[in-house]
Amino acid sequence: MSQKFPIVVASRNPGKVREIRALLADLPVEVESLLDHPEVPAIEETGVTFTENSIQKACAVAKATGRLALADDSGLEVDALDGAPGVYSARFAGPNATDSERNARLLEMLAGIPPERRMARYVAAITIASPEGEVRSTVATCEGVITEAPRGTNGFGYDPLFLVPELGRTMAELSPEEKNRISHRGRALRQARELLLAMLPDAAPEQA
Ligand code: IMP
Repeated sequence: MSQKFPIVVASRNPGKVREIRALLADLPVEVESLLDHPEVPAIEETGVTFTENSIQKACAVAKATGRLALADDSGLEVDALDGAPGVYSARFAGPNATDSERNARLLEMLAGIPPERRMARYVAAITIASPEGEVRSTVATCEGVITEAPRGTNGFGYDPLFLVPELGRTMAELSPEEKNRISHRGRALRQARELLLAMLPDAAPEQA
């Protein structure tokens, strides 16, 4: 049996951690998250880009745990809102708001805007950092349209409002496998796989 190396996903968001774990399932890594590392203090996200924030999170977690860390900083950019909520996607509608409160606020802000002006994209920046200070990043997007009412119960966050035009369904109406195939996170993580493999001790080969 080949050895698995622990890596820590720099997140306490169960939806995000679940997707990342599925996307790395065939690699020789044991995926932990900050839910397994309550000793890691809250990390400030002061960057103005997704990549800056993912670097801050990955470096802080690699330093605090002494392990390889993978951070995803992601969010939703809505054209009619000049790119908001953007890097503030998790904090949109206040620090303790729920996903449905954030979705309600987004619908409120887009009230009266017709479908052809409701274009949006998800963005995900992934950074992998080692405790020794090696840092590698990648970024990917997924284009969509904000619906006028929530649809579907899968996924998390803004997924019930994010229509994938090619499929005619919201992200929350896709199975986890369908979402991972096309999502910003799926794309970014497929790009990040090579970076991760190159940073594993002994450059462990991918498992069959
Ligand atoms: P972060 O944890 O600071 O990167 O915040 C990411 C936030 O962006 C999440 O809390 C969601 O509100 C939103 N978001 C990012 N990716 C997704 C996704 O795949 N589906 C729905 N919402 C997402």
